[in-house]
Amino acid sequence: MDSEHDQGRPGVRRRTFLRIAGVSAAGAVAAACGPEKPAAPVASTAPAPPTSAPSGTGLPTGPPNWDDLRSKLTGSLLRPGTDGYDTARHGFNQLFDGNNPVAVATVSSVADVQACVRATAGRVTIAARSGGHSYAGYSVPVGGLVIDVAALNKVDVQGGKAVIGAGAKLKDVYAGLARAGRALPAGSCPTVGIAGLTLGGGIGVLARKYGLTCDHLSSAQVVTADGRALTASANSEPDLFWALRGGGGGNFGVVTEFTFDTDPAPQELTVFSLHFPAGSGAGVLAAWQQWIAAMPPELWANLVLSGGSPVQCRVGGCYVGGAAGLTTLLNNLTTNAGARPTQRVVKTLDYLGAMKYFEGSSNRQSFVASSRMITAPVDAAKVVAVADGRQGMDLLIDGLGGAVAGPAKDATAFWHRDALASVQVYAPATAKTRTKVTQAVGDVVAGLAAAGAGGGYVNYIDPALPDWKTAYYGDNAKRLQDVAKKYDPYNVFRFGQGVVS
Ligand SMILES: Cc1cc2nc3c(=O)[nH]c(=O)nc-3n(C[C@H](O)[C@H](O)[C@H](O)COP(=O)(O)OP(=O)(O)OC[C@H]3O[C@@H](n4cnc5c(N)ncnc54)[C@H](O)[C@@H]3O)c2cc1C
Repeated sequence: MDSEHDQGRPGVRRRTFLRIAGVSAAGAVAAACGPEKPAAPVASTAPAPPTSAPSGTGLPTGPPNWDDLRSKLTGSLLRPGTDGYDTARHGFNQLFDGNNPVAVATVSSVADVQACVRATAGRVTIAARSGGHSYAGYSVPVGGLVIDVAALNKVDVQGGKAVIGAGAKLKDVYAGLARAGRALPAGSCPTVGIAGLTLGGGIGVLARKYGLTCDHLSSAQVVTADGRALTASANSEPDLFWALRGGGGGNFGVVTEFTFDTDPAPQELTVFSLHFPAGSGAGVLAAWQQWIAAMPPELWANLVLSGGSPVQCRVGGCYVGGAAGLTTLLNNLTTNAGARPTQRVVKTLDYLGAMKYFEGSSNRQSFVASSRMITAPVDAAKVVAVADGRQGMDLLIDGLGGAVAGPAKDATAFWHRDALASVQVYAPATAKTRTKVTQAVGDVVAGLAAAGAGGGYVNYIDPALPDWKTAYYGDNAKRLQDVAKKYDPYNVFRFGQGVVS
């Protein structure tokens, strides 16, 4: 029976994250989730950082002079054993609460970032942190320096341009844009940082209409490994500008500020969610793949398969326009899906209202995740089969195409221009279950590949993805390595899945 009651509102059920991440906006349908049980801290598997610069680099050697660095910063520098360190070091994924950086610097200016890089390059691993949502805890390096840019959080919208500090969270970005009547396509989680999101691409509920977040980037301010502050744009450091649009966070320097081209905020956005009967997933997915490919870019949708027996299926999304225009489009899906939705929610909101509708809880989570991409319709029955019996695991299949497919595959570093959808595999995990869950996620990823889904999305970064470099970057991988070597010749920003590793 159709219902206009919004029984699947975010923030009230388990797995908030899911709807979030898959831009995941499992549509509102999605099970929102409170945090799973906090995981006991687990040490990262990240490689130990260098204690001194490789010989012949000309970089200073020996341990950094932390007191000297602290005296140069307008922000703070926290070392183990000092007040606030234990909270300051934590990122979003609780599985990495065991990562103990040698220091956490909270920077509040470009000069602060330069001082951090100059004092530590080659001596310890350096990682920037914006929203701290790296799935693999890469923004909190074991034994390394965290350069936390959260205080660089301005959102200044003038005319069609938005100048956004690298530490701004999506909730502040949306609020600032909405005040100015402007829009930027971005992700769904309120506390994801603009830096990590943009540098890996940026998939969201407006992506089919307006493209990826990185497609709107017109310039970025970057502190490189040698401590210089550069402007990257089409006319200045064009290689770096190319790499910053999809090449992944952490690889080329520390971004301090982004300038984006924005669009007028749409007057009306109609959000929707459809719950289908348990066991109908294969038919719905088969129809959904054909349907999303044929839809106008104004319509974005995802499909969420929740593992268990039987597998649950729901479709959610967002339409740029009023409810009247959406009805026929949804009917095109439901008449071919082989099952009628048992619950249907449709509501029309303004830009900020819609962005808030898709946001979930900002509570930290404890999880293992990975991804694959769908470029041509996959065997729906096989995909549903891999989720069968996997209680607690979700497959979030987010529609791409439309404006995402506009630029050529090598026009920016984001490789998956021809993708029909991304598939995120997400599973809650604790310290105790981590090994088992990692194995299960790996099995599902392999099952997806066998069903026809290859590739992967660097923002759903997965240390266990076997073919990760090709999966994230395809034929752009070599050029990305060349850019990284040009701007960071001694790999001072190295991490487990850095493009030079
Ligand atoms: C709950 C949740 C919801 C999500 N929803 C979406 C979504 O809707 N759409 C989507 O596309 N993705 C989504 N993601 C994935 C998200 O885009 C990535 O996890 C992203 O990398 C997070 O960015 P961050 O700044 O918050 O994380 P961080 O952990 O701070 O950074 C991620 C990476 O970027 C590097 N980095 C951070 N700041 C800088 C900087 N200033 N300069 C250079 N490198 C930097 C870090 O070192 C790290 O390697 C979601 C993730 C989570 C956990």
